[in-house]
Amino acid sequence: MSSKHSSRRRELVESIAQGAVLLAQEGQILAINDAARELLAIPTRARTRSASDVLTHPELADAVDDVRDTGEPTTLEIDHAEALLRVNVSMLRDEVLVLIVDRTEESRVEQLRRDFVVNASHELKTPVTGIQTLAEALSVVVAQEEHERVAALVAQLGDEAARLAALVHDLLDLRRLEERGPQERARLDLAELVRRVVAAQVDRAEALGVELSVQAPVELLFAGVTGDLEVIVRNLVRNAITYNRVGGTVDITLRQLQDGSGEPQVELVVTDTGMGIAPSDLPRIFERFYRVDPARSRDTGGTGLGLSIVRHAVEYVGGSIEVTSHLGEGTSFTVLLPEALAPEGPTDASELRR
Ligand code: ADP
Repeated sequence: MSSKHSSRRRELVESIAQGAVLLAQEGQILAINDAARELLAIPTRARTRSASDVLTHPELADAVDDVRDTGEPTTLEIDHAEALLRVNVSMLRDEVLVLIVDRTEESRVEQLRRDFVVNASHELKTPVTGIQTLAEALSVVVAQEEHERVAALVAQLGDEAARLAALVHDLLDLRRLEERGPQERARLDLAELVRRVVAAQVDRAEALGVELSVQAPVELLFAGVTGDLEVIVRNLVRNAITYNRVGGTVDITLRQLQDGSGEPQVELVVTDTGMGIAPSDLPRIFERFYRVDPARSRDTGGTGLGLSIVRHAVEYVGGSIEVTSHLGEGTSFTVLLPEALAPEGPTDASELRR
């Protein structure tokens, strides 16, 4: 084998974007690229002369032996050094070529997607089963002409249907936020938006004995997407009412400030005097379908999706969200939004488009 030959072979292996190892029939390494070293977790100065120096994973070593014996290519997935690797082994004339790709992230995303479908189906099943059971009960009592019972069942049917509608609505919101491309930002009065969204929840707050108060500048102009900001305010205020106590309060404040580098920002704070969230639950409340108290959430028409929708919407507008909470005392969510506009800013919406 000429040295010209072997250096060309090495160049070829090094030029492959995936991890690549080329082995001779007898098992010595003819070439190995940096990606393969990294994926196989081979220390920089380690010896890489023979197959056993490199193919430390037993399944991979067996696969290489099999391919060498049979000549048939094979693909396998192995867990190696905390990564999931997909490895393809094939013969290249009388040499063995091993190609390696890292599938860790891809498989994590696949798992998240699978979990989401399972969780969403499970959530949908509850109200759907409720509706089916109620409809059956209804047909029986209608036949018996029990009018009071009919009215009660129809009301329950309505509640279950509303729960289903809320879930479908939240799922669609989440999907829209996750999958859409860049959106045109428009100039809007954030203070007016907050007051409007809060006003829509006054009746619910009153029914639960919770008082709402809003402190917002008269006019606070901001470049954003109305739907995103409504989603953020609506869900935070809704939770602050839901997880509150009779006689409790919800304070919503909006103010303009500057970040560390002097850029204008808007701060939205929603503080309640409710049940609070335990430190162990705090990191998980933004996960889809995570609820501290599933029964309470369901009883109040919660879907378990509100805060994950908020998190997506905040990320989408380039902001950040933080939460502090004390059990039995209350919770405070602080949202920082970039790019507030001074009231004397441009009035033509087209100037604000990015
Ligand atoms: P849900 O529809 O269940 O309210 P969210 O995603 O909006 O779903 O919130 C997730 C969970 O976080 C809730 O089920 C509740 O346990 C907890 N949570 C959210 N906001 C508050 C709050 N202001 N006070 C106490 N717990 C809260």
